[in-house]
Amino acid sequence: MQFVDLKAQYHAYQAEIDAAIKEVTTSAQFINGPQVRGLEESLADFVGTKHAVACASGTDALQLALMVSGIGPGDEVITTPFTFIATAETIVLAGARPVFVDIEEHTYNLDPALLESAITGSTKAIIAVDLYGHPAAYEKLEKLAEKHGLKLIEDAAQSLGAARLGRNCGSFGDLAATSFFPAKPIGCYGDGGMIFTDDAEIAETLCCLRNHGQKKRYYHEVIGCNSRLDTLQAAILLVKLAHFPDEISLRIQVAARYNSAFADHFIIPRVADGCVSVFAQYSLRSQKRDEIVGVLQAAGIPVAIHYPVPLHLQPAFSNLGCRIGDFPVAEKIASEIFSLPMHSFLTKEEQNLVIATVLKAV
Ligand SMILES: *Cc1c(COP(=O)(O)O)cnc(C)c1O
Repeated sequence: MQFVDLKAQYHAYQAEIDAAIKEVTTSAQFINGPQVRGLEESLADFVGTKHAVACASGTDALQLALMVSGIGPGDEVITTPFTFIATAETIVLAGARPVFVDIEEHTYNLDPALLESAITGSTKAIIAVDLYGHPAAYEKLEKLAEKHGLKLIEDAAQSLGAARLGRNCGSFGDLAATSFFPAKPIGCYGDGGMIFTDDAEIAETLCCLRNHGQKKRYYHEVIGCNSRLDTLQAAILLVKLAHFPDEISLRIQVAARYNSAFADHFIIPRVADGCVSVFAQYSLRSQKRDEIVGVLQAAGIPVAIHYPVPLHLQPAFSNLGCRIGDFPVAEKIASEIFSLPMHSFLTKEEQNLVIATVLKAV
């Protein structure tokens, strides 16, 4: 059994994907081929923003979002300590300082009620993460950002296909960044990412920044970077995007099955009112997490822990001077959470085996 079954997915779409790859290899337009623009337009449509700018990874998408927002030395950026490192790593790479704010106990996302007290004169932006594919509390976060004149960036690396109160993930805040890492809800065959915005000027600057700061070849207006999405990856993603709505429904069905099996024994994922989650991870909580994970591993069921150490306790951020107990909710969730196999090709038999083995472990 696979945690995310990319082979089964390839076999299901093989003819279409092989044809799409062949089209690119035959045309030999490996950089900036028409599929890149096509994907940007299709995904902007899918998410509901005016513009989308493709780049080389989700990490780069965050970094470009910070660059275009003018975040740099002396600035503080508020984010969650319970996320993949890229969210806060890019703040440091931009020269700014990450300031962590604890998470909500039930969505595992940034807690808007705690956010205001972390704002200082140096705060320039908030990066909210839609952890496990569940949208953060944007109606509150957008109000706070507006009140304090802060940029709001959505880290939608796990949440394409999710929605909150009728708005799609990828469309919140001033800018949103997503990732096409293979195991994300929609992934490519390598690294890839995208930035979404409604602002034409920001989109144009992003196109320039991702391509060495040039609009015209060899005429460089600003210092940028090399962060383009390969045409091959765009072509593969265009095939997958056509199947994505069906895959989302299947993921939600798997989650519903897991929920009904586990509700009496675990804290199951809670979907807030008016929200759709894409279950980038299906995660349960238990105080006996480590024992249960051991039993599952021994039975050959792939499990993962997203994430075992919150960012404020990672050695990489030791210079921030955080201590155990600073963000108690994040610390508690990190000690209890574990994720089960979740993808749209998980067969009924595999689901049954996961369910039976987890229930046997409790
Ligand atoms: C995966 C991920 C990223 C980084 O994406 P890459 O494409 O791997 O660079 C950033 N933030 C979150 C929350 C992620 O899950």
